[in-house]
Amino acid sequence: MMDNSRNPLPYGNVPQPIRKDGAGATDYGPRDVMRDLENPDMFIPPITDAGTIPNLKFSFSDTHMQLYHGGWAREVTARELPISKTIAGVNMRLTPGGIRELHWHKQSEWAYMLYGRARLTSVDQDGRNFIADVGEGDLWFFPSGIPHSIQGLEEGCEFLLVFDDGYFSDLSTFSITDWFAHTPKDILASNFDVPESAFAHIPNKQRYMFQANVPGSLESQKVSNPYGTVPKNFTFKLLAQKPLVTPGGTVRIVDSSNFPISTTIAAALVEIKPGGMREMHWHPNNDEWQYYLTGTGRMTVFAASGSARTFNYRAGDVGYVPFAMGHYIQNTGNESLWFLEIFKSNRFADVSLNQWMALTPKELVQDHLYVGPELMNALRKEKWPVVKYDRNLNTPE
Ligand code: MN
Ligand code: MN
Repeated sequence: MMDNSRNPLPYGNVPQPIRKDGAGATDYGPRDVMRDLENPDMFIPPITDAGTIPNLKFSFSDTHMQLYHGGWAREVTARELPISKTIAGVNMRLTPGGIRELHWHKQSEWAYMLYGRARLTSVDQDGRNFIADVGEGDLWFFPSGIPHSIQGLEEGCEFLLVFDDGYFSDLSTFSITDWFAHTPKDILASNFDVPESAFAHIPNKQRYMFQANVPGSLESQKVSNPYGTVPKNFTFKLLAQKPLVTPGGTVRIVDSSNFPISTTIAAALVEIKPGGMREMHWHPNNDEWQYYLTGTGRMTVFAASGSARTFNYRAGDVGYVPFAMGHYIQNTGNESLWFLEIFKSNRFADVSLNQWMALTPKELVQDHLYVGPELMNALRKEKWPVVKYDRNLNTPE
C-alpha cells in the first residue's frame, strides 16, 4: 500500500459518511467510492431511518451473466435477494434470430419488452395454439405449465421476465432438447412412430438458447389448427395504454381486470417525472417486486416498530417491499424515473395515506397528529399515485 493510504479521501471529490448535524466521521477505506456515489442515501441515511430492515435491493449488474450464441440471460431470484420470496426476475437478450428454446415451467411467466421485437409461440392443454409478435412496451403472460418459445426478430430484443415464485430459476426449466437427450431412442421412435434413425442427430443435452435464422413473416409461420387459437390473448400492449396522469407523473395498471389471462401477476408501469414522488402508500394484497427501467431514485420503506430504511435505485436495479409496509419513491435525477411494480396477485391494489386520511372523520385524524386546517383542508379524496416533490423543502439533516 502507498504511504498516503491512511489519509481519508478529500472532501469535495468523494462523499464522506458525515451528516449535516455532524454525526459520523470520514471513511479511511478500504471503500468502493463508485458504490458510495451511487448510494448517497444509504451512505448517509436520513435521520428518520432506524432499525434492522433487511436488504431490499439487488442490481442485475451483480448477477451471473449467462452468455450463449443467440443472446444472454441473467436472473435475480431469492438466491440473490433472499427476501424476494414471491417473485423472481430474469433479464434476457436475444439476437436477430436467437431462440429461447421450446420449454415450460411450473411457474407462470409475465414479461415486459424493453427493446426490439420478438416472436412468441405457445400451445395450451386443449391443443389451441398461439403465435404473436411483440415490441417495446408490450407484455406477455404464459400460464404455469404451458409450453412456449421466444425468438428475436430482425432487430433482436431485450426483455424482463417475471415469475410468480422467488425460488424459480430460468436455468432449471423443462426443455424440449433436454427431454429428448434423456429419453432412449426406442422410446422416441415408438412415441412418434418413426425409425430410430430419425433421432440420429438430436442434441445430447439441453440447448436453452441458440442462434437461428430470423423467422419469416408471422403469416408464413401460422400453423392451421382444427382446435383453433387460445381463447384469451397471451399479449398486452401496456405502454400503448392510456395512462392515469397526475402532476408528478403517469401510471399504467395491468392485471386480470384488463388482461384476463394474467391471473397471478398484477403490475403498474410508473413514470415519476423529475421533481416527482410516488406518494406514501402500501399494498393490501402482497409483496411488491420492482424493476427500475430508467433514471435514479430513492425509496424509504417503513416497517412498523420504529423501523424505516432508505435505498437508492437506478436503471437495472431490482427493489422489493415486503407485504403491507409503507413506502414512497422519489425521483432524485433530472430525467424521468420509470419503473415496474409487480405483485403476485390477480389485482393491482394500493392504499393511499392521503386518501385514507381524507376519507376519515376530521376530528379523529386531528386528534392523532395534532394537525390543523392547513393539512386537513389539503387532503385529497381522489388518489394521486404520483405527486410533486418540492426540492426546496429538502433539508438534509
Ligand atoms: Mn418461459
Ligand atoms: Mn408500492
